[in-house]
Amino acid sequence: MAVSDIPARTGDPSARPARAPRRARGEGQWALGHREPLNPNERIKKDDNPLNVRDRIENIYAHRGFASIDPQDLRGRFRWWGLYTQRKAGIDGGRTAVLEPHELEDEYFMLRVRVDGGQLDLAQLRTIAEISREFARDTADITDRQNIQYHWIRVEDMPEIWRRLESVGLQTTEACGDCPRIVLGSPVAGVAEAERIDPTSAIDEIVRRYVGDKQYSNLPRKFKSSISWLVDTPYEANDIAFLGVDHPEYGPGFDVWVGGGLSTNPMLAQRLGVWVPLGEVPDVWAGVVGIFRDYGYRRLRHRARLKFLVADWGVTKFREVLEKEYLGRTLLDGPAPELPDKPIDHIGVHAQRDGRNYVGAAPVVGRVSGSQLAQLADVVEAHGSGRVRLTPYQKLLVLDVPPERTESLVAGLREIGLEARPSAWRRGTMACTGIEYCKLAIVETKARGEDLVARLEQRLRDFDTDISIHINGCPNACARTQVADIGLKGQLVTGPDGRQVEGFQVHLGGGLGMAEGQTAGFGRKLRGLKTTAEELPEYVERLARGYLAGRTEGE
Ligand code: SF4
Repeated sequence: MAVSDIPARTGDPSARPARAPRRARGEGQWALGHREPLNPNERIKKDDNPLNVRDRIENIYAHRGFASIDPQDLRGRFRWWGLYTQRKAGIDGGRTAVLEPHELEDEYFMLRVRVDGGQLDLAQLRTIAEISREFARDTADITDRQNIQYHWIRVEDMPEIWRRLESVGLQTTEACGDCPRIVLGSPVAGVAEAERIDPTSAIDEIVRRYVGDKQYSNLPRKFKSSISWLVDTPYEANDIAFLGVDHPEYGPGFDVWVGGGLSTNPMLAQRLGVWVPLGEVPDVWAGVVGIFRDYGYRRLRHRARLKFLVADWGVTKFREVLEKEYLGRTLLDGPAPELPDKPIDHIGVHAQRDGRNYVGAAPVVGRVSGSQLAQLADVVEAHGSGRVRLTPYQKLLVLDVPPERTESLVAGLREIGLEARPSAWRRGTMACTGIEYCKLAIVETKARGEDLVARLEQRLRDFDTDISIHINGCPNACARTQVADIGLKGQLVTGPDGRQVEGFQVHLGGGLGMAEGQTAGFGRKLRGLKTTAEELPEYVERLARGYLAGRTEGE
């Protein structure tokens, strides 16, 4: 181009050369024609449906061992069967971001067992315990999504583990991966006095129809669900949530929320404003998953959760697309549900509607063992019960306890390390997996959580108010950093001698599942609010004492 061809910079737009209109890059939405994979994760899913990897595990990898596993299966498709490689011991958090995946991982796996609705019978509990002791070095954590999580699993043992789990109706199908994960449910579904409809049949139907169905197994990212009558799950942190509500004309049904998710860009779910009867819950659920599959963003992993689509569209458009394109009918408008003053965790002794009791007990930060679960099964059976429930707060419940045997059960649970009358600290503290096993972790969480609870129980034994402390090993917020009274996000911080050490950024005053005007919403993340991991107990103690000294009457 000759210099004379360049328009003078006059500031007059008409003097500039006309630019071709910029083409929108798009977000990789299938419904808009973006079928070519836009990143390696999408490529893995397109090349072979991840559910197919089970066959290779059983027929090839289990026989030839860890070294024979195709890397795309190992770090991609294995997740659809609940398997993640485990972090190699001894790698500090400072190296998490700089090492290659194969340098971080061990030849063992974390295995997640989905317990939809958190419901277990004794045969299932004993099977979980037996697998833990035989194949998982006695590990078995209760996660804050009502799963059981094992560690130290070998690929060679997977066929036998699946055989045993499936013989009692349990599965690991889609326990992880870009697919419909476990469906959260009320731990007291079917027994609570305040419940108008037990939604267990809808949860069962969804699992039966859609989990393992290849139509729903390639989603942009994970899809989290919650279905409960009571507000006793962290429903606002889910991609879809059904919450019990009474319609003035049609009676009990469910209010639908969409687009919740925490992690690094947290958003709370929003009401669609519809009322759905129990029998239609599975269809509406499938419609929302269908929207996510077809319209969800696939270009960038960090924008691939449903919450981004809901935020961009708004709930009015989302409802319109759901009705017109996925259900072929309009949904009924519905009233908002009543929300309680504080989240319900069911710890302690409570009456069931049939006159028996349920007892909620707390391990510490969800950590139990196979041996402990086997003992639990014996204690439960000896007290005339046959049902246990896991909660989304890393706790467990024993149902159907005759009133005259309840105190004996409470004592029996205490003997095996499960406390039905825990301190506020033990009751309210949760911790994610952390650096012990998680490849993304920056700091240790479980052992720190146990230590924190023990120290606070010594120093502030009579702390008389509910408090939630959520300890996370990195910004991913698996233990819901942003919605705790004290949310702790693992990171490296500067220690007293100027060196980088394990620590936490602190979020204060978050909460979920509460009526407006209470503290529902995200905790405040104040710049500079940080503590080293070593100083954590003193830090929390100071916060608690400051709160006690400054609280107003009735607070
Ligand atoms: Fe791992 Fe981070 Fe999730 Fe904790 S929050 S389990 S460290 S990814």
